[in-house]
Amino acid sequence: MKVGVIGGGIVGLSVAWELARRGEQVTVYDADPARGAGRVAAGMLAPTAETAFGEEALQGLMLDSMRRWPGFAAELSAATGMPLGYRTEGTLLVALTEDDLTEVRRLVDYYRRAGTPVEPLAGRALRELEPMLSPRIRGGARAAGDHQVDPRLLLAALRSQRLPIRRVQKDVHDPSSLRDDVIIVANGCGMAAVTGLPVRPVKGQLLRLRGPEPLLTHVVRGVALGRHVYLVPRADGELVVGATEEERGADTTVTAGGVLDLLRPAADLLPGVAELALAETLAGLRPGTPDNAPVIGRLEGTGGPGTVFVAGGHYRHGVLLAPVTAHAVADLVTKGSTDVDLSACGVSRFT
Ligand SMILES: Cc1cc2nc3c(=O)[nH]c(=O)nc-3n(C[C@H](O)[C@H](O)[C@H](O)COP(=O)(O)OP(=O)(O)OC[C@H]3O[C@@H](n4cnc5c(N)ncnc54)[C@H](O)[C@@H]3O)c2cc1C
Repeated sequence: MKVGVIGGGIVGLSVAWELARRGEQVTVYDADPARGAGRVAAGMLAPTAETAFGEEALQGLMLDSMRRWPGFAAELSAATGMPLGYRTEGTLLVALTEDDLTEVRRLVDYYRRAGTPVEPLAGRALRELEPMLSPRIRGGARAAGDHQVDPRLLLAALRSQRLPIRRVQKDVHDPSSLRDDVIIVANGCGMAAVTGLPVRPVKGQLLRLRGPEPLLTHVVRGVALGRHVYLVPRADGELVVGATEEERGADTTVTAGGVLDLLRPAADLLPGVAELALAETLAGLRPGTPDNAPVIGRLEGTGGPGTVFVAGGHYRHGVLLAPVTAHAVADLVTKGSTDVDLSACGVSRFT
């Protein structure tokens, strides 16, 4: 079967790789892959600490994908010989003041009700795990089941010439213009223009700081004087500080206010941040749907010769959800059904 994938971001390339592994002839169409949110993403694989109020329906899919990540990472590294920066230390939740601790406890209660393991820790225990944290930290918790990956390394591996995927450097605006037997629309925020589905851009500003040594080993998600921030350390000394969430259409301007909103709580929680080089400031567009869950499934009535599927709207979780999305879409294409529970992701809820 000839399969065309519109969009060469994390989701499109993961789907393409899974289909190629199952023996299909896959072509990925994308004029400018550097546009995608994956280039900006922090890479938290955090079914616990990235769970948000009101997103309960997504929890099962997030945990399913998390279980697939170790195998997905090992197989992709083995197929390409490339590292992904996959790490398993977990997330620490930290609070600066007593009010911030009340907020962290509220989150911890919510994570527990959602069925993910979280261990409350006092400030001293947190600093034993991460000595560079501020001595003012009041307390928090550890979510040991969260992992992380470096999305830029992940994208480099998924784009490796060693994978049997044909790449065409052009955009596709109408799936019916392609001659492939099956077409998968996986073009992030471009999905609304191609399919009419309600996927909108949600702006996220993020900073990349750099020092000679890593300041942290765990991912730290913190609240400082009511401001939320996350800190994602890489082994080479990079520290990712994220992220704002803004409804500003397709705007990718990095603003002084955005940088301030991230640096202020980051330096409150981890004072050593002030000594690091500000290596990069970025803004990316998360593909969001009205209920924050992705759309995965068959799109009816497109009029062209090929069967059309969609895989998009992954919002804040596209890196985490890449393995389960790839598996589910490849099942739907090759077998017509999947054992993955896609009940939160139906296309029909928007058509
Ligand atoms: C600041 C920030 C932090 C994030 N942190 C995390 C995180 O820690 N963990 C996590 O799981 N997720 C995170 N995300 C979310 C994650 O980046 C997205 O959910 C994910 O990138 C979505 O993948 P995608 O392939 O659907 O879209 P994208 O990554 O946006 O890729 C879309 C691709 O489609 C291509 N395209 C667009 N239009 C067309 C067209 N007409 N024809 C062909 N190609 C087209 C683009 O060039 C691009 O390559 C973050 C996002 C942001 C912005």
